[in-house]
Amino acid sequence: MNNIRWLHISRRITQVVFLLLIFLMPVFDILRYDTATKELFIFGQVWSLGLKSGFYNDPSIYGATYVAVHFFLKAILPWVIVLCIFPLFGVLLGRSFCGWLCPEGALFELADFLTLKTIGQRSLYKKKLNDPEIKKGNKFFYGILSGLFLLIVPPLTGAALTGYFIAPKIIWHQITTGNFTFGVKAGIIGVSIYMFVTSILVRHAFCKYVCAAGLMQMLFGWISPVSLRIKFDRENLSRCTDCKRCEKACFMDVKPRYPKKDINCVNCGECITACRKELGDKCLFSYSFGSNTICVEHKALSLKCQEASE
Ligand code: SF4
Ligand code: SF4
Repeated sequence: MNNIRWLHISRRITQVVFLLLIFLMPVFDILRYDTATKELFIFGQVWSLGLKSGFYNDPSIYGATYVAVHFFLKAILPWVIVLCIFPLFGVLLGRSFCGWLCPEGALFELADFLTLKTIGQRSLYKKKLNDPEIKKGNKFFYGILSGLFLLIVPPLTGAALTGYFIAPKIIWHQITTGNFTFGVKAGIIGVSIYMFVTSILVRHAFCKYVCAAGLMQMLFGWISPVSLRIKFDRENLSRCTDCKRCEKACFMDVKPRYPKKDINCVNCGECITACRKELGDKCLFSYSFGSNTICVEHKALSLKCQEASE
């Protein structure tokens, strides 16, 4: 693997694997709630609290204790663990879930790529200063791909997510026969509209201002003294050629070199790859735990940035 791009390629692999996992979990009963039978499936097993049998079998203090312990282990503890996932991610890895795993973030990036290839800018609305330059490609080809993305991704995501509540076999049967129940129709149409709005119209603004998982990681990452962050090597600032590749690589519109408090960094590492393309092994960015390099004042860099803009 080309070592300049290994970070980028690794990230794409984790994004695809996690996307497939989210789409396939209900199919293999790894996780889904069946609204028809009112059963929760986890790793192929029906998740039961076992409360009824506990009460009926033994009404003594031992039976009550058994029920209480079961209730804690099977109802309260799993929720506590689920609720802790994103704060924990934030404390240890910042917004890395957003940058490396989030299926929605991956689809937003795909939408960015197709828009860039088709109309020469990442956003549908306006060209930004940090839009990457692109080689002249076949706009017609990418236009067709964008159309297919629009037609296929929202309903496919709708069907996949509806599978968390209605058995995927039933959904598949309804798709192949064209005979939809209200629940399946509502699921597919509702998620399709949501996907259309978020993936096509809103994209990363959703990650910055709306997504609860993103906001939790942002908050806990921000206050954590040990969280993973992107470190800019200020000591070797003189190596910077001001090529702005790092800024153009950043789909979250962070300016990775600038001494500004920016909480939108998702630790994707694209600025590292971009700088490696310019400076090779002398790249100025790296990952670092606990460093708050991009969040502090740095006079030399401010000066350089000022000079560059004059
Ligand atoms: S600053 Fe770098 S790591 Fe952070 S989001 Fe932008 S490109 Fe990704
Ligand atoms: S990619 Fe590296 S060399 Fe280019 S502007 Fe950013 S920090 Fe400077």
